[in-house]
Amino acid sequence: GQCVAVCPTAALTENNDIHKVWREINNPNKHVIVQVAPAIRVAVGELFDMPPGSISTGKLATSLKRLGFDAVYDTDFAADLTILEEASELVHRIQHGGTLPILTSCCPAWVQFFEHQYPDMLDIPSTCKSPQIMFGAIAKTYYAEKKGIDPKDIVVVSVMPCIAKKAEAKRTELSHHELQNVDYVLTTREYGLMLKEACIDFANLPEGDFDHMLGESTGASVIFGTTGGVIEAAARTAYEWLTGETLEQVELTQLRGLDGIRSGKVQIGDLELNIGIAHGLGNARKLLDCIKAGECNFQAIEIMACPGGCIGGGGQPYHHGDMEIIRQRQIAIYQEDRNKTKRKSHENQEVLDLYDKYLGKPYGEKAHELLHTHYVPKEKI
Ligand code: SF4
Repeated sequence: GQCVAVCPTAALTENNDIHKVWREINNPNKHVIVQVAPAIRVAVGELFDMPPGSISTGKLATSLKRLGFDAVYDTDFAADLTILEEASELVHRIQHGGTLPILTSCCPAWVQFFEHQYPDMLDIPSTCKSPQIMFGAIAKTYYAEKKGIDPKDIVVVSVMPCIAKKAEAKRTELSHHELQNVDYVLTTREYGLMLKEACIDFANLPEGDFDHMLGESTGASVIFGTTGGVIEAAARTAYEWLTGETLEQVELTQLRGLDGIRSGKVQIGDLELNIGIAHGLGNARKLLDCIKAGECNFQAIEIMACPGGCIGGGGQPYHHGDMEIIRQRQIAIYQEDRNKTKRKSHENQEVLDLYDKYLGKPYGEKAHELLHTHYVPKEKI
């Protein structure tokens, strides 16, 4: 059957917070909300004997509701928000002679690596917090205010494809008013365990939907789950902002694939944006060394620590290095993008409402206070 006994040794291997999350859900004084990262929906089904590449977005929403969370939201919403900030930063750097290339900053393993290995290049990464942290920041400010709940009584749980996201949630420079933006991080595997503890037959669940206010998402946010996706999403928005024209060909296929290091050009009016992409830390090092040596000339770079990006994350169902499984998950990510009517982050109405009612302008003062961070040089290890 689907039910399992809780394995006590899991706590030793993955700093498992499942029991703490159950306790919060069962505490009537807490408002417990959950976010799920883009890469989860194309992988979690494998834990329930669904084939790799199954898209389970609707089942995921239903399963989260059945577990008893007070509200069920989507990190994709925050990925769209991240793109509004990151594309603004890119445009700002281009127009004001800022440092280029800009580097994506949503992978905490990569950020950590960078702080240790390239302390002299800390002006390159985008100052944007990652989508998971942006989500928490908005949950404990805007959302708390709208719902009339004391932020101290809001518990934010993340379901992430990633073990490094647990450490990211604890970084003090990412907290706000001494409140941690995200309280607990569960990996995809831990989430699957929770479902099995609750005897939820995931594969046979009906399709549900995420809640509103922090739940809408576009195709651009879904592709955050794969290598090349974050920078493609940013380019879709930067294109329309810089040219004032509609981007008809939203699929920037020149940025796609599974080669460890890739590059592609995106023509934005008169500007030719040269983009570099790496996944896996060995490849990241090669790409950065090439830039440092002045041999690679990019205006934007995306780096993800895991093979394939978050679809191949360390918290996902085990794939044992089988790139065919990663490929199936990637195909599913691009399919989910095509399934969406809105495919550009700046079309996300709930994100636009957030700016309208609370944040003001993208890359403005309030957005800086809540959604941006800084990096600290760390000793080489
Ligand atoms: Fe986490 Fe890997 Fe994704 Fe980086 S690439 S955010 S380490 S799952």
